[in-house]
Amino acid sequence: MELNICHLYPEVLNLYGDRGNIRCMKKRLEWRGIKAHVDELKIGEHRDLTAYDLFFIGGGQDFEQEVLLGDLKSGKADEIRSAVEDGKTFLCICGGYQMMGHYYETYDGVKCEFLGAVDFYTVGGKTRMIDNYAFRLSEESGGSTVVGFENHSGKTYLGAGVTPLGTVLKGNGNNGEDGTEGVRYKNVFGSYSHGPIMPKNPQLCDFLLKNALERKYGRGNAELAPLPDKFETLAHDSVLKKIMQA
Ligand code: GLN
Repeated sequence: MELNICHLYPEVLNLYGDRGNIRCMKKRLEWRGIKAHVDELKIGEHRDLTAYDLFFIGGGQDFEQEVLLGDLKSGKADEIRSAVEDGKTFLCICGGYQMMGHYYETYDGVKCEFLGAVDFYTVGGKTRMIDNYAFRLSEESGGSTVVGFENHSGKTYLGAGVTPLGTVLKGNGNNGEDGTEGVRYKNVFGSYSHGPIMPKNPQLCDFLLKNALERKYGRGNAELAPLPDKFETLAHDSVLKKIMQA
C-alpha cells in the first residue's frame, strides 16, 4: 500500500513547525511498511490534484494568507473543492484551516474570499488567542484528547452541515466563545492546533492515516498495526497534565 500526500503552500503556510506533521505522517506510514510519497505544491505550481490521497495545509500570517488568493483563483480552488467532495483526506491547520471556509475578514478589515469548501467563516478579533490548549475529539473523529498550541486572532464560526473536530477542554479553540475546536466535514480535519499537532497526538495521526487508506483501499483493508508509542504518549500526557493544571 502507499499514500500520495500533497503539501500545499509549504513556502508560505509554514508557522510553528507545522511541516512536522508531514514528517510524522510519513514516518508512521513507513514504520508500517506503507510507502508515502510527498509532493510540495507552491504558489504558481500546478499538478493533477486527483492523484493525491491526503492534503496538508499549514498556518500563516494574515498577509501570507492574502498572498494565496490569486493562486487559488488560478484553478487550485476548484480542484481543492472537488477533492473535498470526492472524500479525499485533508489536514488543515490554522491559516490553512481558515482558507477552507467561505472567507476570513482580518481585524484590519481585509476580506479574503476563500474556498468555501467547508461551511464556516472567520473574522479577525482584537486580541490574539495564544497558548497551549487541549480538546477532546468528537466520537466520529476517534474521541481521544488532543494537545496543541494555538496562536490566532481569527474567530471561526461553524455553519450547518459541518461538525466541530472536537470540544475545548482548556484554551480557546475556534472562537473562545462556543467551546468548539476545529471542523470536520467529510474527510476534512481542520484545527487551530500548531505544535505540530501530529507527533504528540499519535491516535489522531493514525485515525487520519487510516481514513485516507480506507478511502483508497476500501473499508476493512487499511488496518494499521499498533506502534510502540511510549515516547509519544509520554509527551502527550505530560503536556496535557501541564495544560489542565495551568
Ligand atoms: N493569520 C490567521 C490568524 O491570525 C492565522 C494564524 C495562524 O495560522 N497561526 O487568525
